[in-house]
Amino acid sequence: MKGSNLPLTDTAASDAPYLPGEAAHEPGIYLVMHYRHRLYHYVTVTAGEKFPACAGCGDRVRFRLFQRSDTIQQDPDFAPRRKLKLVKTK
Ligand SMILES: [Zn+2]
Repeated sequence: MKGSNLPLTDTAASDAPYLPGEAAHEPGIYLVMHYRHRLYHYVTVTAGEKFPACAGCGDRVRFRLFQRSDTIQQDPDFAPRRKLKLVKTK
């Protein structure tokens, strides 16, 4: 028997929470939803970073993007500039 009748989604629905082992599509603050042993809390995750399993609830933990956020180095107004000259005051 060929194939599978499991519905595969290759487009990430923004409403679907991330599971452990999945990589974050966007950098930012994520809400961490544990299973029964801890209250929700927030963590900062960089893009491409894989969500880990929880030491307390294992694969039952879920992650949801709460606020997209770049690092300050990625912001054009704060990025280090090569042409920046230090002004000496004497
Ligand atoms: Zn947990």
